[in-house]
Amino acid sequence: MGEKFDIAIIGGGTTGLFAAYYATMRQLKVVIVEAQEQLGGKVMQFLPEKKIYDVGGYPEISGEDLVRQMIQQAARHEPKILTGESVKQIDRENNQFHLVTEKGKEILSNTVLLATGTGTFHTKRPEEWKELPDSEFKTSVPTTLMDKEDYIDKKVIVASNSKVGVNWALYLSELAESVAIINSEHSFSQVKQEELDQLSDANIDVHYNAKLTDFMMDDKDRLKQVAFLNENEDKVTVPAEKLLTYYGLELEAAPFDKWGIETRKGRIVVTPVMATNVEGIFAAGDIVQYEGKTTLIATGYTEAITAVNHAHLFIDPAATEQLYSTVIYR
Ligand SMILES: Cc1cc2nc3c(=O)[nH]c(=O)nc-3n(C[C@H](O)[C@H](O)[C@H](O)COP(=O)(O)OP(=O)(O)OC[C@H]3O[C@@H](n4cnc5c(N)ncnc54)[C@H](O)[C@@H]3O)c2cc1C
Repeated sequence: MGEKFDIAIIGGGTTGLFAAYYATMRQLKVVIVEAQEQLGGKVMQFLPEKKIYDVGGYPEISGEDLVRQMIQQAARHEPKILTGESVKQIDRENNQFHLVTEKGKEILSNTVLLATGTGTFHTKRPEEWKELPDSEFKTSVPTTLMDKEDYIDKKVIVASNSKVGVNWALYLSELAESVAIINSEHSFSQVKQEELDQLSDANIDVHYNAKLTDFMMDDKDRLKQVAFLNENEDKVTVPAEKLLTYYGLELEAAPFDKWGIETRKGRIVVTPVMATNVEGIFAAGDIVQYEGKTTLIATGYTEAITAVNHAHLFIDPAATEQLYSTVIYR
């Protein structure tokens, strides 16, 4: 069955990433299992371009930059990181946990830390996506605004009918050579007139009732144009070097009932040491609930520290409850 870990962290959002760093700093053997292809959880999916002002040590930082720093920090002691692996099953066998992912990967661990947030937000594609010719490019079109450097001085198309797409387009207009939006509807949902005015102030063309029909590549297999049908069913092509789509999200919650984890209103009930009702399984971050709980990035860090320290004590009752990094790296 392969490697065995001290802590299997389910969820590679900000809580899971910090837990991985902290646990490996304490010399525990760690695996992070993240359902998405990218790490960073909600911060990467919802706030990559937004400025965050309430994480200690950063007067301001974008969501993407914060996640990058966290990945760098987490990587310091080389935890195993599995992305694109959604944990479906957790069983306790012979005093260890046996995790199985949707793709059938099996993981053995002494303890488990649930850092699942409210679940996995699967991104959706526009309706017409399935009609578009299959290609490697099609599969790789991002549904999250990350790697902002890739958009500098590029001709960018955002395919979206929502406020998120409008925000991305406005953000990218500061970096890109040009930005246009292809919206399959006749309007945007939840977008105010002032935001539409900002689009025109930023010279962002919006094509309404536009259905994507094709991607045209250059001889080096790089995107050069996208084609769409306009409301009169005329085919229009526009220059494009970068395409990203945002058509909403679908939440898939982790199957806590099946795992025997006690929840209240969808959140995991934890003790003050972040233990769940199942011995050896701890939880931290947005998914936990207790009196006074705040759903903030920094809260997840503190909870991760407590959870890891108590997972450590669960594995080795003689372990020190906490250690300063200044002492560890002395
Ligand atoms: C619009 C918005 C603005 C916000 N602004 C701020 C702010 O300004 N400051 C602030 O501090 N906080 C802010 N937050 C809150 C902050 O985003 C969250 O507190 C933080 O992201 C929680 O991190 P997490 O790691 O606990 O959960 P998440 O980020 O949700 O990560 C959980 C991860 O677990 C994965 N996962 C779930 N189930 C499984 C499974 N079965 N197998 C494998 N992986 C799984 C998910 O795919 C996900 O990547 C904001 C949130 C939103 C939505």
